[in-house]
Amino acid sequence: MTVTNTEATNISERLEQVYERIKAAASRASRDPADITVVAVTKTHPPDVVETAYELGLRHFGENRAEEAAEKIPHLAHLSEASWHMIGHIQSRKARDVTEMFSRVHSVDRLKIARRLSSFAGEHDRTLAAMLEVNLTGEESKYGFDLSHWPDDTSQLSPFYDDVEAILELPHLHIDGLMTMAPFTEDMAVVRLVFVRLAKLRDHLASRYAVTDWQHLSMGMTGDFEVAIEEGATMLRIGTAIFGPRNY
Ligand SMILES: *Cc1c(COP(=O)(O)O)cnc(C)c1O
Repeated sequence: MTVTNTEATNISERLEQVYERIKAAASRASRDPADITVVAVTKTHPPDVVETAYELGLRHFGENRAEEAAEKIPHLAHLSEASWHMIGHIQSRKARDVTEMFSRVHSVDRLKIARRLSSFAGEHDRTLAAMLEVNLTGEESKYGFDLSHWPDDTSQLSPFYDDVEAILELPHLHIDGLMTMAPFTEDMAVVRLVFVRLAKLRDHLASRYAVTDWQHLSMGMTGDFEVAIEEGATMLRIGTAIFGPRNY
């Protein structure tokens, strides 16, 4: 399968629109767009679509399933400046593959997977950049450390802090931020509140655990990335707005 000229043009035009929207949102928030990284979410798209995106200047690519990544990434080894971001839930038995394929994990959602990632990264003498995924909505379909009732109810903080402390001691994981998924709603006021809570949680962690800088907030997808920028996102995970609808 190859990318036709029309498809490549479509991707190029969509990408331009995404950059314009990022610029406008950053300007509203008095932020420098250079502080915002686009992670192009390439799940369901074949390797040549990734090549097209790379030719258009994208360097960060996100996949949410280790199995799919294992089929795709080896075909793209020639994209020497590409970095791969794991953005989905990681099954324990896939932890080794993930450390071998990805340069960053957005979805560290439990202590056990953090330990496994650190240990496999250590075997390769490397340190894996990673973010903690938190579930701020309580939706069953979402992974992440459960902070669905925080800050109204602070009782979820103590078990979370215990896990954070254990994770920060792992020698081969470098935790530098938080990731979340907004609730599945068109109501941007509800979405915004979730992003505001993630930024606030980051500020709490930064003052409590200064061993790392907590600089990154991975939040914002096709439907809500402008709101995410306004609330401090440093990494956007964007699929549909760049590549068009996915065919599963
Ligand atoms: C698929 C996916 C995205 C991108 O979604 P779009 O709505 O297509 O931009 C972002 N984050 C995660 C975790 C995903 O699985």
